[in-house]
Amino acid sequence: MGPSGSIVTFPDTVGLPTIFDPKPCSYPPPREKCAGPFCTDPYKYRDSQSKLPLCSLQCCKAVHEKMPSLSAC
Ligand SMILES: [Zn+2]
Repeated sequence: MGPSGSIVTFPDTVGLPTIFDPKPCSYPPPREKCAGPFCTDPYKYRDSQSKLPLCSLQCCKAVHEKMPSLSAC
């Protein structure tokens, strides 16, 4: 019995939290494109009715015109 009661050791089996997992995280995921017809811009918001990604009110209207079940933007 020596005066060594305060040393804390962790066994090697205690891993690091998963956020430190070495993953190939070179890029952020590619940004989703606007769902507007002929539109190639990245989306800026998601339409609350259709859940489609949209970049502008014009694209929103274009998408809604194609889907009569949706109400106006
Ligand atoms: Zn757009």
